[in-house]
Amino acid sequence: MLTLKLDEIPDEGLELKWKEEPTALSGYLESLSEIDFEFESPLQSEAKIRRVGQSVLIKGEVQAVLQLRCSRCLKEFSYPLASSFDLTLHPLKGTGFTEETELSANELESNFFEGGELHLSEIACEQVFLEIPIQPLCQEACKGLCPNCGKDLSLSACDCMEKELETGFSVLQKLKLH
Ligand SMILES: [Zn+2]
Ligand SMILES: [Zn+2]
Repeated sequence: MLTLKLDEIPDEGLELKWKEEPTALSGYLESLSEIDFEFESPLQSEAKIRRVGQSVLIKGEVQAVLQLRCSRCLKEFSYPLASSFDLTLHPLKGTGFTEETELSANELESNFFEGGELHLSEIACEQVFLEIPIQPLCQEACKGLCPNCGKDLSLSACDCMEKELETGFSVLQKLKLH
């Protein structure tokens, strides 16, 4: 995990490029296990980091290929992702927190830093999380699974729908007869 101390940032700013293997990130991902995904490629990041008073400005980019699970057919698929971001991080002070400034854990992580250190790996990972669709689709036209027989309808149609139509139709016919 890449960590940068505030006093390692020169006045003119710093440009960094780094790459992390999926295995190096797995520990961090486990702590955020609500999201069902894996890295298929290393996470490549670059960032321009500048100090402004007590705060830090980061302009960066992340790139990776993820493995997501389709929310319709439940198949795993590759999802190339590239995203640029602009962040302002403020030092988190131990005291002086009023109710007004109380924020959710997520916001704390993305907008503050503690102990004069920037956890650049975490920041990069968070940018990736932000880009993951809530309902990932293997393809826009994914037909999903049949709710009745569970067949992958993108591969081949099942006859559940037909049967349903037929029974509906025969009911109609019966109704007409009476
Ligand atoms: Zn799908
Ligand atoms: Zn079916």
